[in-house]
Amino acid sequence: MTAPQATASFYRPADLGEALRDLAAHPEAVPVAGGTDLMVAVNYRHTRPAAMLDLTRIAELRAWSDEGAAIRIGSGVTYARICAELATVLPGLAAAARTVGSPQIRNRGTLGGNLATASPAGDGHPPLLATGATIEIASAAGRRTVPIADFFTGPKRSVLEPGELITAVIVPKALGPQQFLKVGTRNAMVIAVCSLAVALDLDARRLGTGIGSAGPTPLTAPDADRIELPWARPDLFNDALAEEFGRRVAAAARPIDDVRGTAAYRRHALAVCAARALRRVWTAAHGTEAGR
Ligand SMILES: Cc1cc2nc3c(=O)[nH]c(=O)nc-3n(C[C@H](O)[C@H](O)[C@H](O)COP(=O)(O)OP(=O)(O)OC[C@H]3O[C@@H](n4cnc5c(N)ncnc54)[C@H](O)[C@@H]3O)c2cc1C
Repeated sequence: MTAPQATASFYRPADLGEALRDLAAHPEAVPVAGGTDLMVAVNYRHTRPAAMLDLTRIAELRAWSDEGAAIRIGSGVTYARICAELATVLPGLAAAARTVGSPQIRNRGTLGGNLATASPAGDGHPPLLATGATIEIASAAGRRTVPIADFFTGPKRSVLEPGELITAVIVPKALGPQQFLKVGTRNAMVIAVCSLAVALDLDARRLGTGIGSAGPTPLTAPDADRIELPWARPDLFNDALAEEFGRRVAAAARPIDDVRGTAAYRRHALAVCAARALRRVWTAAHGTEAGR
């Protein structure tokens, strides 16, 4: 005879303070936002939380606000809302959000859940890396912020400690064109074979890059970002520059062979995507023919 299973406790805090107190008092409680990662794991019996902490009633986590130079996105804001409400100010993140799952997943899934899962293939991550976003974290002991580039520590691992919640993501507003490109085995409902975000900052004359699904964590490509672009003479932009950028992005990747693709294919696809993305942002910014 199987022993009866203990009933899991389910906490439903009404605000952030209560959530953090609940988490401190019940460290076994697993936060749940949209449930689109967690409940899949529960259904497959990969995990069986003794207790759950429902974040969906916490208004602060479901809100975003305009902070001047940046948008503060509550961790519980869904992809559907990012697409509908933030596409003008955060075009790269909105483009990535549009590729996530299906309408049902985009209606439930949150940016905070994507970050906490910390999958190297998470589509929210490359645009956050390309724009230098900051993650806001809170526990009963206080708040801290972590630059996105320092947030991921390994496959499905991050700096998030027990007792901590992601409260928000601070994303600088776009100061130029942005792109997100995702390679998959079909057009929708697909985990990225690799993905790439590029953000052009026309004020600082700077390029930012984020790579997904091509390393143990989402990655930046600092050497690619340092490529010398013809800011003073935009018409001098050419294919050789775009291809050099592609090579540098591919070199920054640390892909493996797995069921979704080989390391060699991922590097090749990233080089193509990167050259394409750079041409597109340059064309959008300067309208030169070189950026086909
Ligand atoms: C059919 C399907 C298709 C999908 N397609 C994609 C896709 O195309 N691209 C993609 O990137 N992902 C995809 N996903 C994965 C998933 O939808 C996303 O990762 C989503 O962002 C998870 O958010 P959530 O709110 O549902 O997280 P949940 O499932 O609620 O939580 C996920 C993890 O994060 C923790 N957590 C949640 N919120 C917080 C918080 N505020 N602070 C601390 N920890 C927290 C939970 O404890 C859990 O460990 C797909 C999933 C499914 C089922």
